[in-house]
Parts: sequence; C-alpha cells; structure tokens
Amino acid sequence: MKLGDIGEFGLIDRIARGAVFNSRGLIKGIGDDAAVIAPGEGNVLLVSCDMLMERTHFIYGRTTPFQLGYKAIAVNISDIAAMGGKPRHVLVSLALPQWITVEDVEGIYTGMKDILSRWSVNIIGGDTVSSEVLAIDVTIIGEAPNGSVLTRGGARPGDVIMVTGNLGDSAAGLEILLRGEMAGRVPQSDSKPLLSAHLTPQPRLEQSSVLVKLGFVSAMMDISDGLAGDIKHICESSGTGAEIYTGSLPHSQSAARVAEIAGKSVIEWALSGGEDYELLFTVPQDRQEEVVQAFSENRLGPVTAVGRITGPEGGINIVGPDGKKYTGKEGFEHFAEP
Ligand code: ADP
Ligand code: MG
Repeated sequence: MKLGDIGEFGLIDRIARGAVFNSRGLIKGIGDDAAVIAPGEGNVLLVSCDMLMERTHFIYGRTTPFQLGYKAIAVNISDIAAMGGKPRHVLVSLALPQWITVEDVEGIYTGMKDILSRWSVNIIGGDTVSSEVLAIDVTIIGEAPNGSVLTRGGARPGDVIMVTGNLGDSAAGLEILLRGEMAGRVPQSDSKPLLSAHLTPQPRLEQSSVLVKLGFVSAMMDISDGLAGDIKHICESSGTGAEIYTGSLPHSQSAARVAEIAGKSVIEWALSGGEDYELLFTVPQDRQEEVVQAFSENRLGPVTAVGRITGPEGGINIVGPDGKKYTGKEGFEHFAEP
C-alpha cells in the first residue's frame, strides 16, 4: 500500500496504536502539539538522540524493516543504559522516501514496539517528513535517581577497565552481511548470532542496573565506535591514560571463525569494529571480583577486565600478549595518541 493512500494522519493513527507500554508519568502521548510527561520524584531526566541514515548506517534491502526499527531503538536504549538510567519514552522522526510502503513503515514500528515492549518504553511523539533517503531519528528520555548517574568522567589511575559481553560480533556480522560470498562459507550456527549482534543488538540494561547498585563503578559508557576509540572518551573526561591488553579481549568463537574465513583479525574487530553496544566501565582494582561475582549470580553473561587506567602522561596504549605495544596487521599507531 502506498503512503498516499492513508495520508500522514492515517499513518500516525497506525503508529499510535499500541505505542504505550507503561503509562506511569505519561500525561499526554501522541496526538497533541507536544507530549506531556512527569518524571518520578527525586529523579533526573536523561535525554539523548541517535539517527540511522540510509547509505550511511544501513543499506535498505540488507536489513528488514523490523530489524531497522529494532536497532534504531536499541542503540538509543543503550545510551540510557550507559548512564545507569532507565529508558521511559521515545520520540521518532521519520524521513520517508517516495518508494516506501505502508507495510515497510509498519514493519519498522513493529520492530520498534518489539524492543520497546520488552523494556516498557513508550512512543510519545515524533515527526514525519518526505525525503530522498530513509532516515530514522529517535530521541529517548530516561530517568535515574538524582546522584546515581554514571558519567565518563570518574575513572582514576589504578582502576580496572571492564567490558560486558563479547566484542567484535557486530563487525563479524557486518562482514557476513556485506560480503555475499561469505554466506555460503559460514555455518548458520555462526552467522545467526553474529548477524543478530549487528542487526538487532541487545542494550545492556540489566547489567547497567546491577552495576549502579554495586555503587563503586567510577566511569561508564557504551561501546559504539569500538573499544580502542571509545576508551579515549573516558580518558579525556577523566583526565587519565589507559592500557588495553589485547590478550584479554573477550570475543566469541563464532567471530574468530568468521575472521579466519574472511582473512581478517578478530582482535582488530574487538578493538575497533564498533557497534557492539556493550558497556565499558571502570572500577577500583579491589572491586573487580565483586563485579564478576554479581554478573555470575545474576546470570548477566560475560564480564571481562581488559585493561587499566593509568596517569595521563602515557596516553592510551594497546598492549599485545608479549607485553609490547600492539601494532596489529596494519599498525595501530594512531591509538598511541592520548
Ligand atoms: P505538528 O504539526 O503539531 O508538529 P504533527 O501533525 O507532525 O504535529 O504530529 C501529530 C502528532 O503525531 C504529534 O503528537 C506527533 O508527535 C505525532 N507524530 C508525528 N509523526 C510521528 C511519528 N513518525 N512517530 C510517532 N509519532 C508521530
Ligand atoms: Mg510536525
């Protein structure tokens, strides 16, 4: 069905159906000039936005509308998780090309509502415009008790650098997606989890909530550009340096096998593949065991120490298993800069 057949308001009507999953604090959602929300008492609001743009962030046809919608929300929820907050509401702006059908747009919202329902987050508004390329821009509003927010700025020399989950799965999934000939060479048991890691990433909200409760996390962010690049943000905000040990990087066996087939390095994917949406955080050295314990008790998946925070003088160093500076296949000198 063409969008013209139902018009902008017909479309908004369809979007608005089943858009509310938790009405607490929601006074007015879709349907007025602005949404009206009330934060919980003693809470601060966390606000962020992230846009997915056709050709820059995805190729239409290599991903389903469902996956697109799912990912647009997942990456935004990840930003709230990274601050130690709870996601509450989203606003969705759509730039829609002529060729897109009502079914495509509904597919995008089905993917959005799938993950929104899982975390009880509401769609409370948005905007719809026509455009040459498809773009989905999501603004997310989250909440956290005043004083419990985790920023990038609290890391101290001596702190241990830790990450949740595995790194490099998303890059491995992208490799499969972009190189058609890979599909026949990689077993489904490997390609399935890697493609999901790339197309429908899981924001680490449960992990974030446990880390907030532990109370001693000094800095936190989510990994969107790759560990090697993202650790710089913690170092800049905290006024520190860091060492990352490539021998400690957690990666899946599936990603390692795909790297082997593709002639790529799984370590480089783990360092700079990006789009993993895992949490990167720092804790005082004597608290590392408590983190591992809490993750195992709550069945939160892997959590791994991958480095330590140093003074600012040394900048950021990627250290290989031999204790020497890691240069990788093509050289990683650019990580030497603080
Ligand atoms: P206005 O012209 O006042 O900006 P619109 O006609 O664009 O209002 O939107 C009407 C209502 O529908 C508003 O509540 C708006 O937030 C919501 N809305 C518009 N587009 C979207 C969309 N793509 N997704 C969700 N809500 C939308
Ligand atoms: Mg408008």
